[in-house]
Amino acid sequence: MTPYSGLLFCTATMLLLLALFSSQQRHQQVAYWFGWLMLTAAIYCFGYGMELASSTPQQVKLWLHFQYLGVAYIPALILLTAICYQNQHQAPTGLVVFLLALGTLTLAMHWSNDSHHLFYQTQHPIWVNGLAISQLEFGPWYYVHLISTNLALLISCLLFYRVWRVSEQYYRSPALLILLGSLAPWCCYLLYLLGLSPDGIDSSPFGFIVSGPLFAWGLFRYRLVNLLPIARERVFDELTDVVLVLDKNQRIVDFNAQARVQFPQLSPHAIGQPLSTLAPFLFRQLSAQEKRTTPFYEQQHWFELHRHPLQNKGQQRIGEALVLRDVTEQQRLHQQLKLHAEVDALTGLLNRRMILGFLETKLQRAAADSTFALLIFDIDHFKQFNDSRGHLAGDALLASLAPALRLQLPGEALFGRYGGDEFLVLLPCMTESAALTLATHLNRQSQHQFAVSLSLGVAQWHAGMSDTELLHKADNALYLAKQRGRAQAAAYSDIENSAADASVEIAEFNQ
Ligand code: GH3
Ligand code: MG
Repeated sequence: MTPYSGLLFCTATMLLLLALFSSQQRHQQVAYWFGWLMLTAAIYCFGYGMELASSTPQQVKLWLHFQYLGVAYIPALILLTAICYQNQHQAPTGLVVFLLALGTLTLAMHWSNDSHHLFYQTQHPIWVNGLAISQLEFGPWYYVHLISTNLALLISCLLFYRVWRVSEQYYRSPALLILLGSLAPWCCYLLYLLGLSPDGIDSSPFGFIVSGPLFAWGLFRYRLVNLLPIARERVFDELTDVVLVLDKNQRIVDFNAQARVQFPQLSPHAIGQPLSTLAPFLFRQLSAQEKRTTPFYEQQHWFELHRHPLQNKGQQRIGEALVLRDVTEQQRLHQQLKLHAEVDALTGLLNRRMILGFLETKLQRAAADSTFALLIFDIDHFKQFNDSRGHLAGDALLASLAPALRLQLPGEALFGRYGGDEFLVLLPCMTESAALTLATHLNRQSQHQFAVSLSLGVAQWHAGMSDTELLHKADNALYLAKQRGRAQAAAYSDIENSAADASVEIAEFNQ
């Protein structure tokens, strides 16, 4: 055995191990084709090693035939590996069939050469320094094979180069290893074609001495076929959130498929471009919110932005990952829930809980010298209205009366439904007499617009009075209005005054 053959056998063993390793990842397309590529390369190296070590023309011919089991398919397999590696999908079936058929045809032409001489016109071995070197005069099919092989290698290298150029840093190294690994046998092949290889041997299989370790490095160090772009494809690209990776100068390093949907200007050429030009609204948000994830409204959608700092092994900040989530639907539901919790469904006014809550907080915060009045009113004979016209008509009255009266109130007033046909109006900065005038106006307006009268009670707040006390006083005033014959307003001070009058009368009577 010559040293050349020994070297080739070692290389073949290494390639075979890589093929076995890849075969365990068969479910991934790129690993599948890569595994076959390694197997054919191993066959080629082993076959050529045996050819060089052959001692008879028959042996040379046999091993030359054997090598073509690999050689014929290498161009197809490297191209299919490159296609799968770059777009992470199965290569088109038509292309797979065509490439493999071309390989099979080459193999058939080679094996049947004796009957047509279209591959080699002449073929006889000579022995140089103990090495069996085939002297070959090429036929037309050899040139078909030569051109298709070089074309396939060229395209593959361009595809690997493209992956290397557009990929994020982490994916670049394996892409470069594969690129260099593919270039090595090709360069040796070109040396052979140019007649520059030593002793006239075919130097291309020796290129795999370089390719083998490079491929192995790519496989084991970077988990090339079982993790890398596949994981990226599945996890990164299939996320429904927009993901953008930025470097520390806020230039785009990587982005997923959803990012391209949201920002159509993101193309592979966007890598390295500043975020400010490609996604301006996102850039504005980055400046606006450092860490918070407050939803913001943009392009008729609600978004939430999450920022994840990226650090290198030395804990230095090297960039950040932005995750942009469309929360329009959640936001809509949130608004709806809020509405249900705060607003009375029939009248659109604040509900009982909210209006009482406002009353409490307004009074808690009121300064001692603040003026504040509370108005409570009730529709007169509403039960009768329901009985004579039906409940639905009663509902319709409530639904139209409330917004109509709202228009009559000052801007700072808070209006809510207290329950049934009772309503509360909070009147900041209003005296009792002003509230009484307003109440009288509301009654008139209701009679005029809806032909129903209101009974209204007003009370004025004084420092130290609680919300329940004020409510009680206003309610008493309403009761007084009802007592006085409805369709009118009454003030709590009327009750106080009449009580005072009564005590004066009693005092006078006692004297
Ligand atoms: P009064 O003048 O003393 O207020 O007489 P009233 O008939 O209005 O009596 P009261 O205020 O005690 O009764 C309120 C009525 O309002 C009872 C109920 O039938 C009616 N009511 C309460 N809530 C609703 C509602 O949401 N829709 C309708 N259609 N009617 C309601
Ligand atoms: Mg009533």
